[in-house]
Amino acid sequence: MRFSTRAIHVGSEPDATGAVNPPVYLTSTFSQRAQSEFVYGRTANPTRRALERNLAALEDAKHGLSFSSGMGAVTTILTLLKKGDHVVLSDDTYGGVYRIFTQIWSNYGVECDFVDAANAANVEDAVKENTRMIWMESPTNPLMKVVDLGATAKIARAAGAISVMDNTFASPYLQSPLALGYDLVLHSTTKYLGGHADVLGGAVLTSNRELFEKLKFAQNALGATPSPFDCFLILRGTKTLAVRMERHCDNAEALAEWLGGHRSVSRVLYPGLKDHPNHRIAAKQMRRFGGMMSFVLRSSAKAKSILKRLEVVTLAESLGGVESLIEHPASMTHGSIPKPEREKRGISDGLLRFSVGIEDVEDLREDLDRALRA
Ligand SMILES: *Cc1c(COP(=O)(O)O)cnc(C)c1O
Repeated sequence: MRFSTRAIHVGSEPDATGAVNPPVYLTSTFSQRAQSEFVYGRTANPTRRALERNLAALEDAKHGLSFSSGMGAVTTILTLLKKGDHVVLSDDTYGGVYRIFTQIWSNYGVECDFVDAANAANVEDAVKENTRMIWMESPTNPLMKVVDLGATAKIARAAGAISVMDNTFASPYLQSPLALGYDLVLHSTTKYLGGHADVLGGAVLTSNRELFEKLKFAQNALGATPSPFDCFLILRGTKTLAVRMERHCDNAEALAEWLGGHRSVSRVLYPGLKDHPNHRIAAKQMRRFGGMMSFVLRSSAKAKSILKRLEVVTLAESLGGVESLIEHPASMTHGSIPKPEREKRGISDGLLRFSVGIEDVEDLREDLDRALRA
C-alpha cells in the first residue's frame, strides 16, 4: 500500500461490528476474566494500539509508540542515556529539547554539545569517546536549516551512537529518516499529524527491536501516555495528512516566492527556494519542502505592529495545523535565549516564523500584504 492508503487504513480496519473507525476505549483497566491481552491503560489500550500501528506505517517502521506530548516522547527517549554519556545535537533545535538537555538532563550527568549540523562535518567533529546519541532536527526551528540525514546517520553509526531524528517539521509525508539510516524518528503529533491544533501528542517510530523494547518499557515506567480520546483525534488527523501536506506545500511555495519579492521583507528562509543554502540536499531528501518558513523584515521595529494587523493569520506559537500561525521567535518561542546568543545564532528581532495553513492562498497573501504595507 502506498502512503495515503496506509494513512487511511492501517489501524482503522473494521472490527466485528463493521465500524469503519476504531472505537475509543475509554477504560483504565481490563477484566482479566476476559483473558484480554490488555491489562492496564497505562501499559496498553486498543485505541492507542491502533494509532501506534498507523504512525509506524507512516514512517515505514516496524514499531510505534505514542505519548501524551512530543516532550513525553523526548523524555522517554532520554532514558536510553546514562550518567557520563554525551549527545551531539543540531544547534537550532526545538526550545523544549534545548531546555530539557541543558536544565534537566545535565543534572543527571548527561553532557551535550550543540553544533551547526547543516554542515555534517561539524557533527563528526563534535563526536567524542563517550558520544552515545546524535539528535537532529531538519528543517530546523526557526532558521529552516537542512541537515543531511544520510551523512549524519552514517556518522552516528560509525560512532556507535543512537541516531534520533525529530521529523516534526517535515512530517512523514515529506521525509523518511529511517530509510536514510536513522534509528529513531520522533514526532510531536501535536503539529502536522494531528493537524487541527486541537490535541497534544508525541510518537517514536523505529524498526530496531531492541530499542523498541527498551522504549516500550520506559513508556510504561514513565507514564507519559496519551488518553484514548487523544489517540482517536490524532488517528483522525493522519487520514488527511497527505492532502493537507500537498496544500501546505502549495501555499508555502507560492508565499515564499511572493514574500521574497516584497519590499518590506529582506530575506525568506524556505528550503524550497533555489537560493536557500541547503536547497540541494533538501531537494534530495524531501519529497516537497513543507509548510514552514521564516522571513526577516527590513524594519525589525515594525515586527510587533505588523503582527497585530494580521486578520486571517493568527499570532500564536505552535505549527502544523490547518490554520496559518505566525510568531516572533525573539520574544516568543526563543525569548528565553539571551539576546547576544540569539543574534549570534541568527534569530534577529526582525525574524518571523510562519506556519502556512491550508486556507485560500489569496486570502493569506492579501492579509500579509495589508499588514506589511501599513
Ligand atoms: C512542538 C515540538 C516538540 C514538542 O512537542 P509537544 O507536543 O509540544 O510536547 C518537539 N519538537 C519539535 C520540532 C516541535 O515543533
